[in-house]
Amino acid sequence: MPDTPPPRKLAAGNWKMNGLGADLAEARALAAAHAAPEVGVLLCPPATLISRMAEALAGSAIALGGQDCHAAAKGAHTGDISAHMLADAGASHVILGHSERRADHGETSAQVAAKLRAAWAAGLVGIVCLGESEQERATGRTLDVVGAQLAQSLPEGAHAANTVIAYEPVWAIGSGHTPSAGEIAEVHAFLRAHAPDPGITLIYGGSVNPANAADIFAIEGVDGALVGGASLKAADFGAIIAALRVS
Ligand code: PEP
Repeated sequence: MPDTPPPRKLAAGNWKMNGLGADLAEARALAAAHAAPEVGVLLCPPATLISRMAEALAGSAIALGGQDCHAAAKGAHTGDISAHMLADAGASHVILGHSERRADHGETSAQVAAKLRAAWAAGLVGIVCLGESEQERATGRTLDVVGAQLAQSLPEGAHAANTVIAYEPVWAIGSGHTPSAGEIAEVHAFLRAHAPDPGITLIYGGSVNPANAADIFAIEGVDGALVGGASLKAADFGAIIAALRVS
């Protein structure tokens, strides 16, 4: 069997429903400080900013992503955005199945799988989010839950070049709480063993910040981070990228 190349390190910033035109200054500052990062760096602003951020980051090494897409390529879906539209606006990636979308919009893993197929059809890399709730962890069901999400959210054809997996415990997002290093390592090892491609990039998300980034990147099997709150400011996200570079 040929050797699998190591997963590409990735720091992805999820701006969620934050960011106006004035905040493009943060993206410009990040690009200026990390002109040619040796790790993948991705910003996922709200859809309203993708085109303008693409212009602001032109010539930089920072890629752009959407935060969701529809499973259809186009049509009568008021308020939705297709993967082709994201690509047309300048995105190369799209976050799919974030727990906030699963909670706010009732998204199922089957819908995530359909969206991932749509992302591939548009040439986008899908970042598929998985993670257990606090109650699921407390009752010892973490691996069952993420295993089912993995099996149901990734259709046939997922591999390292078209898919990234983000392990995001729901209770760690925006809470300031993170799992222990052993808990993260256990889930990442499980996901690596069950992923369709062992070379897939596997990132952790949930309250990553400049103070804990180095410790999280030192955990076996962690290839980077999906960062929410701390990606809004260039100084904070820049410090996380710097920690990833030296990890
Ligand atoms: C996220 O939104 O994916 C996330 C991890 O948020 P935060 O870093 O703010 O916990």
